[in-house]
Amino acid sequence: MRVFDGKLLIGGNWVSSISGLCEEVKSPYNGEVVGIAAVANVEDIDMAISAAEEGFAIWRRTPAHQRAAIMMKAAALADERIEEIAQIISSENGKSLLEARGEAGRCGEIIRLGAFEGSQLYGDSLPLDANKGTGQEKIGFTLRQPVGVVVAISPFNYPALLVMHKLSPALSSGNSVVLKPAQSTPLTALALAQCFVDAGLPAGVLNVVTGSGTQLGDALVRDSRVRKISFTGSTAVGTRITQLAGVKKLSLELGASSPVIVMDDADLELAARAVSIGGYINAGQVCISVQRVIVHEKIKRDFLDALKPLVEKINVGDPKADGTEVGTLINERETNRVVASIRNAVDQGAVLITGGEKNGNIITPAIVSEVDPSSNIAQEELFGPAVVVSTTDSLKQALHIANSTPYGLGSGIFTREVNSAIQAAREIDSGVVHVNWTPLWRADLMPYGGFKASGIGKEGVRSAIEEMTEVKTVILHGQSWQ
Ligand code: NAP
Repeated sequence: MRVFDGKLLIGGNWVSSISGLCEEVKSPYNGEVVGIAAVANVEDIDMAISAAEEGFAIWRRTPAHQRAAIMMKAAALADERIEEIAQIISSENGKSLLEARGEAGRCGEIIRLGAFEGSQLYGDSLPLDANKGTGQEKIGFTLRQPVGVVVAISPFNYPALLVMHKLSPALSSGNSVVLKPAQSTPLTALALAQCFVDAGLPAGVLNVVTGSGTQLGDALVRDSRVRKISFTGSTAVGTRITQLAGVKKLSLELGASSPVIVMDDADLELAARAVSIGGYINAGQVCISVQRVIVHEKIKRDFLDALKPLVEKINVGDPKADGTEVGTLINERETNRVVASIRNAVDQGAVLITGGEKNGNIITPAIVSEVDPSSNIAQEELFGPAVVVSTTDSLKQALHIANSTPYGLGSGIFTREVNSAIQAAREIDSGVVHVNWTPLWRADLMPYGGFKASGIGKEGVRSAIEEMTEVKTVILHGQSWQ
C-alpha cells in the first residue's frame, strides 16, 4: 500500500475523504485493479481551498531562492522515481511503458524550469516624469506577484506531463494549488505530489483532491477564494468553466482537430515518417495529434504508399510488454466512439486504407482516405489512432481547409518552398505552426496554447508563470526638492 492510496492531500496530510468513500482505479488494458483513489465531495473541496489559502499565506512570503531550493529537491525526487511513476502511468492510462517512461522522464526537467523561471519575476521601472505635469519627485515601478489559490484540473491523456505543466509554474511563482486530476488517472498525480511533500513544501501549498469532475467541478471553479483556474481538457468542459468561473483568471487548454498540409514539393519520406509518429503516439489521444492530412493531389498516391507500411509497422498491444509502442485507449466508451466514427466516415464514402480494428481497448492504427473535410470525422476531435486524408490542388485551398474547423491548437506544413512555409506560418489560425514536422512536438519551455475553440492563454513554464502572476504598479510620491 502506498502512502497516497485512497487518500487526499489536504493541508500537508494524506487524509481520507470526509465520506470515507474510495474507488478502484483499473487498467484499461486488462481491467486489473491498479490502485485505490479517495472519492472527494464538495466538503473536501471546501477544506482543500481553505488549506490552500493558509498555504498561500506562508508561500507568498517565502523568498524565491527558498522556493527554488524546494523545487530543485522535488525535481531530484521526480528523477529518482521515474521508473515508479512510469509504471503507474502505464498501469492506469494504458499507454506503453516506452511512452510512459518518456513522459515521467520530463517531470524533473519541468520542475527545474519552474525553479528558474519562478526566480525571475522581474518588474519594470516607469518613466513617470514623461507624464505631462509630473516631476522627478515620484518613482514608479511594477512588481510581479503570485495570484493566490490556483485550481488545476487535468485530463487523463498525459497524467504526469499536464499535471507538471500546472504545478511547476504555479508553485515556483509562489501560488498555492488545489489539483483535481482526471478520475481515471489519479495515481500519477498523487505520486508526483508526494515528491513535493518529501521535498519539504510547506503544508497547504499543494492540495490534491480526487473524484469525479462532474461532481466536484462546479464547487472548484465557482469558489471566490480561487483566483485562477488552469484547466486542460475538452472544449465542452472548458466552455462550462467559462460560464461558471466569475471574475478570475482562466487558462483553458482544450480540444483540437490538428491539420498537416503536405505540398507537392514536400520531402515525402519525411512527411510520411512524421505523420506515422504524430498521428498515433498515445493511441492518438493527444491534443496535438495529427488528425487531418491535407495532401496535394499530385502526390497523394505516393504519400499514401509511403505512409501505409510505416503505420502498419507500429507495434500495438499490451502496454507493459517489451517492444509495445502504442497501448490502449482510456476505456471502452472511448474505444467504441472512435471505431464508430471511423465506420461512419466509411459509410459516408471515405476509404479505410488500413487499421481501425478493435481488440479490447486497442484499435489498430488507421488511415482513412477520401475524407470530405466538412464531414464529422474531420471537423470533430477524434482523439484516437487514425489519420484522415483529403486532397487539395493549391496552397490557398489547403490553408482554407486547415482553418475550416472550430479548433486551432497545432498545425504543420511539409514543403521545400520557403514562401509556402511563410504563408502557412502567417495564415494558419493555430497556436503553434510547425514547418517540416507535424504538430506533435513540444518543448516544455515554449509557449503552447490554442486559438478559437482550442482555448485561452498559454502554457509552457515561462508563459504559464505570466498567467499565474499579477502585475502590481507601485508609485512612491515624494515632495519636490530645491
Ligand atoms: P475532460 O473530460 O474535459 O476532463 C478533463 C478534466 O476535467 C478531468 O479532470 C475531469 O474530471 C474534469 N471535469 C469533468 N467535468 C468537469 C466539470 N464540469 N467541471 C470541471 N472539471 C470537470 O477531458 P479528458 O477526456 O480527460 O481529456 C481529453 C480532452 O482534453 C481532449 O479534448 C483533449 O484535446 C484535451 N486536451 C487538451 C490539451 C491542450 O493542451 N490543449 C492537452 C491534453 C488534452 P473527470 O476525469 O473526473 O471527469
